This record gives sequence, C-alpha cells and structure tokens, in this order.
Amino acid sequence: MTWRVGAALLLAASTAHAAAGDAADVSKPKKDRARATKAAKHARALPVAGAHAAPLVDLYNEHTHEWLAVDPTALPSAPTMDRFLRDHYTNKSMHMEPRLVHVLVAAAAHFHQPEVHIVSGFRHPKFNLVLRKKGHQVARDSQHTHGNACDFFLPHVTTRALHAWAKDQKLGGVGLYLDSGFVHMDTGAVRYWSGD
Ligand SMILES: [Zn+2]
Repeated sequence: MTWRVGAALLLAASTAHAAAGDAADVSKPKKDRARATKAAKHARALPVAGAHAAPLVDLYNEHTHEWLAVDPTALPSAPTMDRFLRDHYTNKSMHMEPRLVHVLVAAAAHFHQPEVHIVSGFRHPKFNLVLRKKGHQVARDSQHTHGNACDFFLPHVTTRALHAWAKDQKLGGVGLYLDSGFVHMDTGAVRYWSGD
C-alpha cells in the first residue's frame, strides 16, 4: 500500500511541476493550459505522506482567558510558554521549568483529552503575598514564584484520577485540591499534600 501512496505523490509532484511550466507557456492551446492548472490544483490538495499526525492539545489559562494550541511533537518555545503561564496579577512572566509543559501535554495524552486548563503558573512574589494576606493556602516561598509549578485540571477528568497520574510521574511535589478541582505539580522535592 505504501508504494501506491508514494507513486501517487511522485506523479502528483511531476504533474504539478509540469503545470507550473505550462502556466507560463502561452503558446499551448488554452484547453491544455486549463487542464494543467487543474492538475496543479489537484496536486496541492493531496494529503502529505508521513507519520500519523498527533492531535493538538489546547491549553487554556483560566486567568488570562488565553488559549494556546500545542503540537505535542513540537512544543512551543520557552518565551511562548513563559508568556502563556505569566502572572496575571502583575502581568510579569518568568522562565518556566520546561518539564512542566511536557507534563501538561503528557496528561492530555494519557487521558485522551484535547484540553488542559491552567489555574496557576508563575506567581509573582507580590501576588503570592496578596494571596497569603487573603488567607489562601499559599506557601511563603512557593515553587510558583520560581516558575517551577503549575496548577491545572482537565475538563471531564476527575481531580482524583489526575492526582493519581500526577503522583506516578515522580516529577516533584504534588498537591491535591479536591474542592477547587485542580492538581498542583512542581519540580521541587518529591512531596505530597492536599488542600481545599
Ligand atoms: Zn500550586
């Protein structure tokens, strides 16, 4: 079957090539030129041969309401991820630990889900302090303030199931927030806790 696809593509490529040449050749009968153009259009419409395309993962930032479509085989650049996971309170970004984006994409793949929602990425020390003053369960020197943590959930996946998977990754810290409905993962020391 493979050779057929290959042959079809080769044929299409040569037809397209010929068509491109014909387009400039006004000495040919109009009918031939029209046929050549049609062949070129057909060639462009053929699917590209290769590996089965990996589905995109849509990351959604709950605070900025921004979406980022991620190709699992070609992860976004560091500046793109840093910007996407920026602190919404100060609008400042931080260099995010690259393993976090792998984790987000791996979670989507594991649960066969197209979306990952981010509750918190980078947290500026100022915002971290604001949260502490408001009485939120936030560590003084949170891994979020170092760009090493991400709080997230997957719609249609239970927090408990995501939490079990997160612990299996042995990445670092894992926090379970059942009432709020998200899981915290960071690249610090391996430790487990739960909050609201
Ligand atoms: Zn967190």
